[in-house]
Amino acid sequence: MLDTEADFQFDKLHEECGVFALYGHPEAANLVYLGLYALQHRGQESAGIASSDGRKIHSVRKMGHVAEIFTPDALNQLPGDLAIGHTRYSTAGETALLNAQPLSVDCAKGQIAIAHNGNLTNAIELRRALEEDGSIFQSTSDTEVILHLVARSRERTIPAALREALLQIEGAFSLVMLAKNRVIVARDPHGFRPLAMGRLEMADGGSAVVFASETCAFDLIGATYTGDVEPGEMVIAGPEGLTRERYTPPEQPAHCSFEHVYFSRPDSVVFGRAVAPSRDLMGRLLAREHAIDADIVVPVPDSGVAAAIGYAAESGIPYQQALIRNHYVGRTFIEPSQAIRDFGVKLKLNPIRHMLEGMRVILVDDSIVRGTTSRKIVRMVRNAGAKEVHVRISCPPTVSPCYYGVDTPSLRELIAANSTVEQIREFIEADSLAYLSLESLRESLEDSDRRFCYACYTGKYPTLVQIEEIVTAKTGCC
Ligand code: AMP
Ligand code: SF4
Repeated sequence: MLDTEADFQFDKLHEECGVFALYGHPEAANLVYLGLYALQHRGQESAGIASSDGRKIHSVRKMGHVAEIFTPDALNQLPGDLAIGHTRYSTAGETALLNAQPLSVDCAKGQIAIAHNGNLTNAIELRRALEEDGSIFQSTSDTEVILHLVARSRERTIPAALREALLQIEGAFSLVMLAKNRVIVARDPHGFRPLAMGRLEMADGGSAVVFASETCAFDLIGATYTGDVEPGEMVIAGPEGLTRERYTPPEQPAHCSFEHVYFSRPDSVVFGRAVAPSRDLMGRLLAREHAIDADIVVPVPDSGVAAAIGYAAESGIPYQQALIRNHYVGRTFIEPSQAIRDFGVKLKLNPIRHMLEGMRVILVDDSIVRGTTSRKIVRMVRNAGAKEVHVRISCPPTVSPCYYGVDTPSLRELIAANSTVEQIREFIEADSLAYLSLESLRESLEDSDRRFCYACYTGKYPTLVQIEEIVTAKTGCC
């Protein structure tokens, strides 16, 4: 149960998720499991799958990684031809398992389960109104607001009730929902978070419909990407086939640019554009804007790799993988205390001394948030013998928190919100520091028609946000 409104706000700001849904395959849960496996990078603390056998919705939700949760026994508890799944990065603590998704409810319209990627910016008001009207919440997740709105709707069918709920919620949402015999998905009218659609051909000549946050999940199961669920669109896969409808007119698009900078996998197509060329171009333009004489270009793995390759290619300076990442360190492991967190960077990264000794190094990473990781990495590279360390970041300074589903700390903790680039350079102890300009980020995304959101770099939010320390008016997409 919710303790205080402050708890709720805190939790709301920490949502990073991946969603997957499938309709029309006898091995639905197994395929959703594989899809979630490919989306593990979008959230590592809990995961869940809900499936339907046409009579009943079954669900397994647990803390941990996809591979640990979905044992053969767990998958055996998920029969049926349709299923949805979710991976989530949530705050640690008691409420974490309650917030694991898909959330489900048994209401007058039947059983429904829902999973959500994004953040609702009016969840607090909606929740307060629902609670005053007698709704009892089980979690601190804003997704539960949608479930209550659907359950309480006077509409008689689930699609009609969802349509009504979608018109009341604001912010960022890519939703997948499961009813007894239908999968329904929807995307907010700005299209903040991705939601790709695809088709999986079956041996008997039939095909299943699939939806995922990223197309890398389709690649794993052999599905073909057919396009995106459009902003303001609801898609229903059911016995009657596939129905696509606009539940509301689309607004000015505001696709999250940070998906291309960091969050999505480079082998995905996101918002209809492949991520790898975006990152390569970010690196190339960074080299053009902020050239410096040096001996090697070194990425911070994995987040800086694609941009570092672009930087090296453009500058002609050799690319060297001089920092090695241990991929087996889970985020949960480094959570508990500051002492272990401090240790965290060494657990994750180790420098190759003979590559760095005496070298003038250009260190490329995707972003600086609090600055603490960058400082540790710069020290690590210098301690390994580097003569100079020049940091290059493949996006503009992160000056504002995200209210649309990416985990960013508060304004107070964002180093670029409170310091100049020179002060940040001093803090991270680099010889030089430079960021990609906003114009070049736009160019990297081929965004001449302004389809992307850049609010964390500009502070100009495309919707009304009224959370935490800032209250901004609707400013129009930047
Ligand atoms: P710091 O500046 O110490 O807060 O951390 C910066 C590092 O965190 C960079 O290497 C980024 O790749 C990574 N990073 C940036 N944004 C996020 C995010 N939303 N979730 C997890 N890691 C992130
Ligand atoms: Fe993405 Fe930044 Fe916009 Fe959030 S504020 S949706 S992270 S671009």
